[in-house]
Amino acid sequence: MSIMTLDLRERVVKTVCSICYSSCGVLAHIRDGRVIKIEGDPDHPWSKGALCPKGLSGIELLYHPDRLNYPMKRAGERGEGKWKRISWGEALDTISFRLNDIKEKYGPEAICLATGAGLYSNYGTMGYFAYLLGTPNMMTSGYVCFNPAGTAAWATIGYPAALFAQEMVNEDIFDSKCILLWASNPKNTHPYPVGEGILPQKKKGTKLIVVDPRPTEFAKKADLWLRIRPATDDALVLGMLHVVINEGLYDEKFVNDYTSGFEELKIHIQQYPPSRMSEITWISETDIVSAARMFALARPSCIVQRVPIDQSCNAVQTSRAIFIMNAICGNLDKKGGNLLPRVGDVPTENAVRAQMEKLPREVLEKRIGAREMPIISGPDGPGKMVHPTFWVRAVLTGSPYPIKAQITGANNQILRDQNSRSAIEALKKLEFSATMDLFMTPTSELSDIVLPAVSWLERDGLRGHPGYPYLIPIQHRALDPLYEQWDDNQFFIELARRMEMDIPWQSLEEYTDFRLKGRGVTLKELEGINFITLPKEYERHTKGQFEFKTPSKKVELYSTLLEKFGFNPLPRPVAPPETTPEFPFILMGGKKSLEYVHTAGRQIKLLRKRYPEPTLEINPEVAVEKDIRDGDWVWVETLYFRERERVKFKAKLVDGFPKQVVAVEHGWWFPEKEDPEHGSLDSNVNLVIPNDIYDPIFGSTNLRSIPCRVYKE
Ligand code: SF4
Repeated sequence: MSIMTLDLRERVVKTVCSICYSSCGVLAHIRDGRVIKIEGDPDHPWSKGALCPKGLSGIELLYHPDRLNYPMKRAGERGEGKWKRISWGEALDTISFRLNDIKEKYGPEAICLATGAGLYSNYGTMGYFAYLLGTPNMMTSGYVCFNPAGTAAWATIGYPAALFAQEMVNEDIFDSKCILLWASNPKNTHPYPVGEGILPQKKKGTKLIVVDPRPTEFAKKADLWLRIRPATDDALVLGMLHVVINEGLYDEKFVNDYTSGFEELKIHIQQYPPSRMSEITWISETDIVSAARMFALARPSCIVQRVPIDQSCNAVQTSRAIFIMNAICGNLDKKGGNLLPRVGDVPTENAVRAQMEKLPREVLEKRIGAREMPIISGPDGPGKMVHPTFWVRAVLTGSPYPIKAQITGANNQILRDQNSRSAIEALKKLEFSATMDLFMTPTSELSDIVLPAVSWLERDGLRGHPGYPYLIPIQHRALDPLYEQWDDNQFFIELARRMEMDIPWQSLEEYTDFRLKGRGVTLKELEGINFITLPKEYERHTKGQFEFKTPSKKVELYSTLLEKFGFNPLPRPVAPPETTPEFPFILMGGKKSLEYVHTAGRQIKLLRKRYPEPTLEINPEVAVEKDIRDGDWVWVETLYFRERERVKFKAKLVDGFPKQVVAVEHGWWFPEKEDPEHGSLDSNVNLVIPNDIYDPIFGSTNLRSIPCRVYKE
């Protein structure tokens, strides 16, 4: 434990919150064996003493009466909600026996490992366990979360590294001359240092451009707010590129020295003049031109791009176009621009997970979806994961072979997957399923074994952005687990040992120390320290310290990698679905609040008090026309599930909201409802979003532009 002693009865542990990637510094005060107070650590370089409501509710989470405390096995029909407490020994024996049995009967590939974003720490050991088991099937939420942008980076610079090159997460933002927030509201999603740093920076003269249909605080205060039609970001950026290239606003030296395909791009871009892109995007030609000039001329500029771009049918090409604009404007690896990737000396969770790719090629070629979606699921693409739509098909139809068992960690899949009913059907059909989480969820209710996970105040280890090596947050447990909760890494290590697999770590501590080996320290030696920073270097490509990993060793504006896979080497726009008279609104389905990360946190009173119910944002004039008042419950029905499914939200009338658009949060369920569904079909927007309309390159489902209708309950 990392301890500072205040007096004889109270001690303070320096740790970090790991509810989201910000990994804010925390001082946890412990007295008489209880955490009595948590506060922000003023010495933390990013959060500087601040904590958001999620972090501040850590004590409530720790002592929450509904937490899972012991392993349990199903004592009734699947989904009936009847459970019996068992020991960890019995849980491990049962899981081990069932996995071995299924492996013998159907082959190891019949077992899938599934994770979400919840605990931020199981990627590495889960992937390593998959390798030892011999299955190539690991399913993540990556298809709608940063990995499409990462794929754009892979196609352009050879690294699947969106976190560096397209999402500014660090203090370099304070050196930017122009910040372009693209589909991003970091006040809610990444408050420290980016979300809280932008407006003070603007006061110092930094320009702010916001691309967002919604009137966020940043949008209203921006130098230029581009109120875009949802899911037409591809057209906008192509229009901006038209200006940047035709007016010669790009960094000529960078283009000449470090890119390939500029001439092809220049010819290609002539099809997308701002006048034409204006008709598609609802943004005036003047604003498109102004935005392009502002961004290109104020160097260094940076882009803070978030997941709405990853949630459309043209996700990868949209990110590609944004990446290209950023690159040719000379912002890559500049202080105040967006960083190029760097392999740090502490392997990330993803780096440990990459062990899975050491399976024989013929096994990797068997990954579910590898044939149809080679970039996300094939052995040569950057994704290396199973897409949920193909997982559902494999479970329900046995094509190309059946998935029979699943180990799930930190993934409330029923809420995560589009067409939620198909996920429910598939989860019910599995022969065996074990789920690890902090609470009983609608997804774990469909398991055979449920395993209790530790909360962040009971956790040791390394946190932070999966690919950002310059700041490594160090987590030290404030307390030992209260009951029999385990760290999910510990679970995979113990399960591997129980199955007599050759896992290189005997304990969680060994695993963490293995990751720290390159730093020459152990976790114990880092007591009292909750972050390590590494010195940053800039413009490494100009000093021979960084090599682009594309076939041409250049920034490929014309992507030969995409071409090799049969996709357009230059980005083109794809029109989003049209509304109809019956379904006149565009539904944006992934709105986020400061209070919740995806499906987590709805049990926490402090958060529910701040944000009690799911909301639907709508323009007040439109609402009046439909006799909808602020606070009314309304139904949402989409073109794709007409008269079959509908979900309800509380109307929130928002001045300045676009009249053609409504926006709702994802991830809503109601833990307080005691039946095993826990309200997971009431306000779960994924119930009315199809899972078979997606980006052909990476399978990103369209969550942001769904024709819908809205009516009062
Ligand atoms: S911003 Fe993220 S890491 Fe920081 S306190 Fe909130 S949830 Fe925790």
